[in-house]
Amino acid sequence: MASVYFHVPFCKQACHYCNFHFSTSLKNKALLLKAMLSELELRKAELSESEQINSIYFGGGTPSLLSAIEIKMLIDTVKTNFALASEVEITLEMNPDDDRPNYLKELKKIGINRLSIGVQSFFDDELKLMNRAHDAKEAFLLLKKVKELFDNFSLDLIYGMPMSNLEKWEKNIELALSFEPNHISSYALTIEPKTVLSHQVKKQQVEVLDEEVVLAQFNFLMDRLEKEGYEHYELSSFGKPSFQSVNNCAYWSGKSYLGIGPSAHSFDGITRSWNISNNAEYVKGISTGKPFIERETLNEIDRYNEYLMTGLRTKKGVSLSHIEEKFGSRYKILLEKEAQNNIAAQMLYWDGDVLKVSRKAKFLVDGLASDLFILNN
Ligand code: SF4
Repeated sequence: MASVYFHVPFCKQACHYCNFHFSTSLKNKALLLKAMLSELELRKAELSESEQINSIYFGGGTPSLLSAIEIKMLIDTVKTNFALASEVEITLEMNPDDDRPNYLKELKKIGINRLSIGVQSFFDDELKLMNRAHDAKEAFLLLKKVKELFDNFSLDLIYGMPMSNLEKWEKNIELALSFEPNHISSYALTIEPKTVLSHQVKKQQVEVLDEEVVLAQFNFLMDRLEKEGYEHYELSSFGKPSFQSVNNCAYWSGKSYLGIGPSAHSFDGITRSWNISNNAEYVKGISTGKPFIERETLNEIDRYNEYLMTGLRTKKGVSLSHIEEKFGSRYKILLEKEAQNNIAAQMLYWDGDVLKVSRKAKFLVDGLASDLFILNN
């Protein structure tokens, strides 16, 4: 099984924390969509013919800026060029300010069967600080409508925000739960270089939230959602049984995916590639044949390190028998040795022959995984 990902590189305005690729000018939207349709046809051979598509994902940027007709064109091109599995999850990321008359019904009609709503917070002061284009009222209204029409939807929440505290975060979670989504993605705010937020922090206009509060928010998130029956299947992802995101699971389990659009990433099992993060250069690349994709072939060590990173972030953990089979016993012996200190510190533990991260160390998983990496010479 494989996935197709569309990166829709437009946003109404720039959120202060965001370092994704997008443009706030929609002037060349038609041209760009045409280029994305061409890219899909140009690159169809990159996914093996025997692989069926079981996930189509519209991310960005803000894909809900596209009309249902535009989204349908992209879905139809996937259908024309690839074999689809009998069940295909088709997800669209949607921002609360993008609701318009009949939009949800149209999305449903063209085959979108999963929505991922970018709520981030139910507090207007936090939304304002992040420069989100919506307010809390729009999020409530949209979620109410989504719940009536879609039985599969997710919502995004950000913790660790300046102006937040544990009490507000608890309220955010309870409000999210009141809509009974079958999936919640929740990320810790990170201060990315060259964002407005990093500038504000440097200038001391915004105060970063205390690390202890951020950790308490994460712990509350885990406890509360698990109590409510959500499976914590990846560091930032919680799903009701059988509602894990097909797209994300494919990514974490090393399956192939084709990323279409500026800045989109792809993986065919051996080679990673990424498209240029510039809308005009991307369109030019498609129309003139000027290279717009960079590629990197992963060597054995890269693949081992990636397996450690994705495995430890997920509930599945890192399996010694998988390592032995894919990489050889040298890697297995090395991992057993390298993990010892963090096992003694109760940060990692063995579940049979599977290495997992203890509950208290989940928040630190990226650092724990990189401690185990083998360095490429
Ligand atoms: S809407 Fe999403 S992609 Fe666009 S600026 Fe905000 S966070 Fe970034």
